[in-house]
Amino acid sequence: MTLKKTLPTIDEGYLVDTLTSLLNTPSPTGFADRAVVFLEEELQSYPDMVCTRTHKGALTVTWPGINSASPRAMTAHIDTLGAVIKEIKSNGRLRLSAVGGLNWNSVEAEGVTVFTSGGKAVRGSLMFHKPSMHVYSKEELEAKRDETTMEARLDEKVTNAEETRKLGIEVGDFVSFDPRVEVTNGFVRSRHLDDKACAACVLTAVKALHHAGLKPVQRTTILFSNYEEVGHGAAAGIPADVVELLTVDMAAVGEGQNSDEYHTSICIKDSHGPYHHGMTTRLRRLAQAYDIDYRADIYPHYGSDGEAAWTAGANLAVALIGPGVDASHHYERTHTDALTATTRWLMAYLLEE
Ligand SMILES: [Zn+2]
Repeated sequence: MTLKKTLPTIDEGYLVDTLTSLLNTPSPTGFADRAVVFLEEELQSYPDMVCTRTHKGALTVTWPGINSASPRAMTAHIDTLGAVIKEIKSNGRLRLSAVGGLNWNSVEAEGVTVFTSGGKAVRGSLMFHKPSMHVYSKEELEAKRDETTMEARLDEKVTNAEETRKLGIEVGDFVSFDPRVEVTNGFVRSRHLDDKACAACVLTAVKALHHAGLKPVQRTTILFSNYEEVGHGAAAGIPADVVELLTVDMAAVGEGQNSDEYHTSICIKDSHGPYHHGMTTRLRRLAQAYDIDYRADIYPHYGSDGEAAWTAGANLAVALIGPGVDASHHYERTHTDALTATTRWLMAYLLEE
């Protein structure tokens, strides 16, 4: 029998609490600053880590390692799906334009916050334009949900565009959808687990290693990217001397998928093709060595920040791991089993010779 290697203990309470706070911090792509500030504050307690904001608004964290011969990077994104106001309708309600790969069915009747340019937050909900069972026909009620049939209904006494504008609301204001976070029996149910679940795993790994007095084997740059949901997050922000990038993002769960909510997964291939075989193989061996039960999988409709870096011309190996997330880009759910396994895998990677 081979003895399995051990890792520092994870503070699971911290993982869940940090994830909950991050989920409750609105950060649609293009308006993700609040989440960046949250991370900066969270990382303040580690004087050995240097936080820098890129010109693009992402957060890079430089973590000195035992050596820096083969510097590494790790990335998780903190931007989420959301919307911006496309039009202020004559009835005072708002027509929205989606930010990221949003399915309008998934946000029907969700609470929203409109962030005005003047700094106000106005509450409301996203409604189908003909929602009442007592007013509309079956055909009307069943019509397609899209940009033209969905509208934000504000919790304000407004009946026309002028009254809405008087609230300081204007075309181009960002809109966030309520995450509705709930933690029950280890299940974390919320919107935007993609990819805040992974950002919380990274923070938890950082905490556990610091607590154990450990540091990465190689200098490691952690990039919390802010434009992943529109495809170019990690296209910038990774130092040129970095030789490999571990992308930490959710695993796709559903019919025919090998991933599930209780495990961490490694992606062999997604819509943009295969990841780096050598790095992927090393990560799989590491998981075995540390007794991390993982799933290998293929994600049929998926792209990651690793591929954004590759597409931008980065000369580095890229692999992708992350917790299984059910109903991605919808009302998502994962389990702490998957989150702790992902966190342990991150630590194993950081400590790998
Ligand atoms: Zn993602």
